[in-house]
Amino acid sequence: MCGIVGYIGYREAYPIVIKGLKRLEYRGYDSAGVMLFDGENLKVSKTKGKVSDLEERASKEITTNGSIGIGHTRWATHGVPNDVNSHPHISNSGDLAIVHNGIIENYAPLKAELIKRGYIFHSDTDTEVLINLIEEVQKKDNLKLGKAVQVALNQVVGAYAIAVFDKKTPNEIVAARLGSPLAIGVGEGEFFIASDASPFIEYTSNAIYLEDGEMANIRLHKQMKVRKIKDDSLVNPTIQELQMNLEQIEKGGYDHFMLKEIYEQPSVIKDTYRGRLHANEGLIQMAGVEDNLEKFLNAERIIIVACGTSWHAGLVAEYIFEEFARIPVEVEYASEFRYRNPIINSKDIVIAISQSGETADTMAAIKLAKESGAFVFGVCNVVGSSISRETHAGAYTHAGPEIGVASTKAFTTQITVLTMIALRLAKAKGTLSNSLFHTYLQELVIIPEKVKEALETNDRAKEIAAVFKDAPNCLYLGRGYNFPVALEGALKLKEISYIHAEGYPAAEMKHGPIALIDEHMPVVVIAPKQGHYDKIVSNIQEIKSRSGKIIAVVTKGDTQVRELADYVIEIPETSDALSPLITTIPLQLLSYHIAVMRGCNVDQPRNLAKSVTVE
Ligand code: GLU
Repeated sequence: MCGIVGYIGYREAYPIVIKGLKRLEYRGYDSAGVMLFDGENLKVSKTKGKVSDLEERASKEITTNGSIGIGHTRWATHGVPNDVNSHPHISNSGDLAIVHNGIIENYAPLKAELIKRGYIFHSDTDTEVLINLIEEVQKKDNLKLGKAVQVALNQVVGAYAIAVFDKKTPNEIVAARLGSPLAIGVGEGEFFIASDASPFIEYTSNAIYLEDGEMANIRLHKQMKVRKIKDDSLVNPTIQELQMNLEQIEKGGYDHFMLKEIYEQPSVIKDTYRGRLHANEGLIQMAGVEDNLEKFLNAERIIIVACGTSWHAGLVAEYIFEEFARIPVEVEYASEFRYRNPIINSKDIVIAISQSGETADTMAAIKLAKESGAFVFGVCNVVGSSISRETHAGAYTHAGPEIGVASTKAFTTQITVLTMIALRLAKAKGTLSNSLFHTYLQELVIIPEKVKEALETNDRAKEIAAVFKDAPNCLYLGRGYNFPVALEGALKLKEISYIHAEGYPAAEMKHGPIALIDEHMPVVVIAPKQGHYDKIVSNIQEIKSRSGKIIAVVTKGDTQVRELADYVIEIPETSDALSPLITTIPLQLLSYHIAVMRGCNVDQPRNLAKSVTVE
């Protein structure tokens, strides 16, 4: 997974490409590179490291102010992150350049064949195989770039979003996608190519999102041609008006994207239910659900497939769907589901959750579910993403771009969407009393205010972070609705601070993890007043008797846990079912501050990337 950028027009390409790459660094950041065309030659600069490292290097190597360029920020899949493996890759003749996001699965036999024909490879990447395959195809039949790319892609198995340049036809860039996202910004006399629209938002608000299996011949002063890679048929692409603005994708005054996104939660949760939840009328209207209400009502089972934080949101949804709508729910890791020959039938509804809408394992799970006849519903954040197109229907979370690799606002908005679906079904099925239904609606409306209040725990979270920042391990415990929150809290801590952390249902502790507890072990216990309060108080006592250090998230005014815990964080009161939207906030803040204090790269933690578009 990586970010690609391209520019062809009348402006100087280099600054546009570099700035675009910086905005796409959330997609990968182990190496970066650019290719500029100076009118005669390809000028390439690439390096292991971040875009800022590239800038330093390119300042010496790139001398042209040419107006055609492509760039890449990489998350390696084939070949370690180093200068040579960085993109762009150049063909043996030196004529063609490519940037690529994805994996060419059959690169090995293709490479062997090309070697037989005399090609030399400098890198270990699959991408270098693809550019030389394009060259070979082009030479063999004397093809124009677009045709050569098309013929080559038809020999390729895998996933790609690519931008290809040929110095023999310097007024053209060819772009194509299969399984990796690609947007084309259409300006006056200029075009932008990028993995998402953020690199060109200030230049044009007109964008075309290529569909899977499509390619575009982007020529200066000519109409762009989009066609299907497989059969060459022409496609009439829809130009979309972008709604995203630059401010949404910049840090907005916060030190990190993650913190900005944590603080955005009150407003994005509102965006999530805006126009869908009408508390006074007692209505929830979501087009994707309304249009398929019968299917939902006839469902014998809901299977939720997701990965990472989205999987945790799915676990919360399991509790909510079963309690509100009385539909049996199973929550599956997409990566396991897709490979274990699951039993799925046409009475099942599969809900796929993914922030980016590009998660490869979730995509594969969706395909499998569709083949088995299930109705598949997507919950994604990125409008127009692959999952949103691949599913039968869906609901966007409307959280805005999430740049911090550790997911925060995506989690709470996913829960919001899933709660609304469960409530809508509960109303239709009559599984919740009218008064309870209305209470939940009213409560959801004021949840943003409560999240705001929960954000006031920031200073407290910081104080506690200072105490525990050097802990090597940490346990997170919760029960019921807050068991998934414990998992999510632990995931947040490990992914950004590299502290080993585990989440457990509090009652499971005595079946193993309790052996870990001693005076050095911090234990975060999510213990709001509702739910299984008395039970969790007993669990806290068990930790206390073994000298564990207790950090408890409690409802404002709590006295019982306060007496037992070493540290408490107070959050506003809410119903048990909606409490994950609140209890998760101090846990996000706690991990954030610990990571900052440990000097970790909060927005781009090591070994991770934002959207996992490879399996
Ligand atoms: N497979 C290519 C590589 O390893 C591209 C990976 C990516 O999407 O960043 O270089």
